[in-house]
Amino acid sequence: MIEETAGTDVIVIGAGLSGLAATSLLLERGRSVVLLEASEKPGGRIRSLRDPVSGNVLGDLGPTWVWPPYQPVVGQWLERLELDTFEQFETGKAALDYGPAAAVQFQTVPGQNGIARIKGGPIAMVDRMVAGFPAGVLHTGCAVQEASVAETGVTVRTPNEIFAASRVIVAVPLRVAAHCIKWSPVLPDGLARTMQGSPTWMSVQAKALIIYSTAFWRSAGLSGRIASRTGPLAEAHDISGEDGTPAAIFGFVGWPHELRAENSDGLEIEIIAQLVRCFGEQANHATHVRVEDWAANPFICTPRDLAEPMSHPEVGPAILRQPLAGGRVVFSVAETSDVSPGLIEGALAAGERAAKQVLGSAS
Ligand SMILES: Cc1cc2nc3c(=O)[nH]c(=O)nc-3n(C[C@H](O)[C@H](O)[C@H](O)COP(=O)(O)OP(=O)(O)OC[C@H]3O[C@@H](n4cnc5c(N)ncnc54)[C@H](O)[C@@H]3O)c2cc1C
Repeated sequence: MIEETAGTDVIVIGAGLSGLAATSLLLERGRSVVLLEASEKPGGRIRSLRDPVSGNVLGDLGPTWVWPPYQPVVGQWLERLELDTFEQFETGKAALDYGPAAAVQFQTVPGQNGIARIKGGPIAMVDRMVAGFPAGVLHTGCAVQEASVAETGVTVRTPNEIFAASRVIVAVPLRVAAHCIKWSPVLPDGLARTMQGSPTWMSVQAKALIIYSTAFWRSAGLSGRIASRTGPLAEAHDISGEDGTPAAIFGFVGWPHELRAENSDGLEIEIIAQLVRCFGEQANHATHVRVEDWAANPFICTPRDLAEPMSHPEVGPAILRQPLAGGRVVFSVAETSDVSPGLIEGALAAGERAAKQVLGSAS
């Protein structure tokens, strides 16, 4: 084991958007930060499919939408990161799919008020934040297994390293933090119960991304939107680039996670069959099909998430936003936020609040 980082101000656990936002703000205020991420890449639930040759983003495998008129925190971060938004493509009719035995119906359906997409996708926020970090801040492939909190500071352990700092921001899903990290001393009962009772938004979902050489459905007067009772895509949308390229459809998979895990090849075949049913034969000619199954990611989804029906995120109890151990431990993940919990807006707001709490504490 290697002893590292004595003298560091803050360890941030988790390089999703909330951990990245907190890290950016702390670095800006001159604090020394070590950001530990279990996966090989930063971004957490924000992930994209990239072209294997050019590296260009083909589409999102995690979040896609923001709602700028209702999300001031997103607006401020987009400005800060010099990123812009564009409208979700909604022109044309939606396909109402009743399964292979019934004819698809086409109908105009209203779009969502204020819905927008970030140019370059949400991953552009991740890339820009990480690009601003000095070398040595972000450590990927570092899953924190233990966190010890003492009067003098905190120590966290990964399988190969020990990191020490004055304070820790825990920017990992609450159930993951309670379930996968061994806390010393143990977390207070009420807090641990609240964390275990806090579902991670979209953690049991799988998102399918299907890339085509052209957005052929648009020329047929279709919006690319599908609503389906039978699936496998319960809901699908056009996720093409602003100018129509890359041309892409994404959908939320309606199959339960056990079935997805058992039959991933069958799932892709069924997805294409559904797209052919809704958009015609050209849908057979996808250049890439990718299903990102978040339920299979142990750093996002816990057994309890899998055991419960998915519920829409609600503002959690104040205990989740209160510093612990005299301010040495602060929780920061989208689900702790008191605005838009579970969403990108919530992740950014939680990261801001956590950074403020750390900056406001005496060292
Ligand atoms: C399919 C899908 C679609 C979505 N659609 C939208 C949308 O359209 N709009 C929207 O606003 N939101 C959407 N969301 C939600 C949005 O993605 C999240 O709100 C946001 O990304 C959460 O960021 P976060 O940093 O709070 O948490 P996370 O992204 O969950 O980050 C937590 C990080 O902690 C890491 N970690 C976990 N355990 C450890 C450990 N032991 N040690 C070190 N690191 C660890 C994880 O690997 C991860 O990187 C969607 C999510 C999904 C999955």
